[in-house]
Amino acid sequence: MIYKRSSALFAEAEKVIPGGVNSPVRAFKGVGGTPIFVKEAKGAYLYDEDGNRLIDYINSWGPMILGHAHKPVVDAVVEKAQKGTSFGMPTEIETKIAELAVSMVPNIDKIRFVNSGTEACMSAVRLARGFTGKDKFIKFAGCYHGHSDSFLIQAGSGASTFGTPNSPGVTQGTAKDTLLAKYNDIDNVRALIQANKDEIACVIIEPVAGNMGCIPPKDGFLQSLRDLCSENDILLIFDEVMTGFRLSKGGAQELFNIKADIVCFGKVIGGGLPVGAFAARNEIMNHLAPLGPVYQAGTLSGNPLAMAAGLAMISELNNDSEIFTRLEAKTKYLHEGIAKVLAENNVVHTINRVGSMISVHFDEGAVTDFDTAANGNNETFKTFFHGLLGEGVYIAPSAFETWFITDALTYEDLDFTIAAIDKVAKTL
Ligand code: PMP
Repeated sequence: MIYKRSSALFAEAEKVIPGGVNSPVRAFKGVGGTPIFVKEAKGAYLYDEDGNRLIDYINSWGPMILGHAHKPVVDAVVEKAQKGTSFGMPTEIETKIAELAVSMVPNIDKIRFVNSGTEACMSAVRLARGFTGKDKFIKFAGCYHGHSDSFLIQAGSGASTFGTPNSPGVTQGTAKDTLLAKYNDIDNVRALIQANKDEIACVIIEPVAGNMGCIPPKDGFLQSLRDLCSENDILLIFDEVMTGFRLSKGGAQELFNIKADIVCFGKVIGGGLPVGAFAARNEIMNHLAPLGPVYQAGTLSGNPLAMAAGLAMISELNNDSEIFTRLEAKTKYLHEGIAKVLAENNVVHTINRVGSMISVHFDEGAVTDFDTAANGNNETFKTFFHGLLGEGVYIAPSAFETWFITDALTYEDLDFTIAAIDKVAKTL
């Protein structure tokens, strides 16, 4: 494939945008080469500036569950845009999407909309601290909750790709209140709670980790975490930025039948527009300004275009009783196809999958936490990534990312992908 125009555009971008990108993982640092510039996208396909067609397994890092430029979503945005793009005043559509979200997601009474997953998680932790009157919180190594200071303590995603988990600019004062636990290791969490008795406001977790590849929670882990939190007056925050409205209508809470105290959403709930949200039962949400003392605000929060896209998107997910089964079936088919061709080509690998989230690790043995995820062979991943790109299949340019399956993918697309992997596997 030719990437002449993408390379030229990247060179121009580098002059005026740090690293040529507005979010680090886009820069191909982990895999080498220059990023692909997208011209447009439709359904399951990206079309780049050089005219190449790529089957998209990133899907804007999760939200395009129904495919790119999905007509009802586009129509809703266009219609709204003609009536004004931002007011900083209440609009009816905010209540409509809030009502729908509250009806779909278990254990929440109220929801507040923000502009990104980062804002949602940052605000959720502030709310938990305000509600409990405690300062510290636990996060898990390799989980990513956005780029707010207190989360950049061995974060996953771009930060792990670069091998610089602790960012300069985050003060020791901030870092000391973030306690790091090992994913899937309940004894480790218990020990942290004991060592910081009565000081921990909340535990925040990706109920299925998606930022160190896809890592499922071990059987019983989330329930034990729930129990530990309840026993110690600690709030449990599920960061469902990736899993919300994707693993089921009610997200991971519904899939695993575990009650979180606060739930965070992002991207999916905005149908691809810049949206995030956090939600909880009344007792907790009523602590937020203007009802309560915990401050949180946003000029563009509840923006009409974003609400229109989000409402169109989650309405369709709510009305299509088969969608999550269909997504899971497609992902399972892909999983089995990839496993078969990699095994036939003697490529050492582990595949993790939950619902429509999947990742391929080039290592033997279970991948259950950040350390086992980091054991993967990055050189093999680089060859795999560039080989697939050459075949017209676009996966995330980092071994620490999850592939997201969209309903727009056909079984022909999946067969094409499996055949491409078979071809690339012969070169690994
Ligand atoms: N939480 C999780 C689980 C995420 O995957 C992400 C982003 N990928 C975020 C939070 C941050 O969201 P945003 O990039 O919209 O700020």
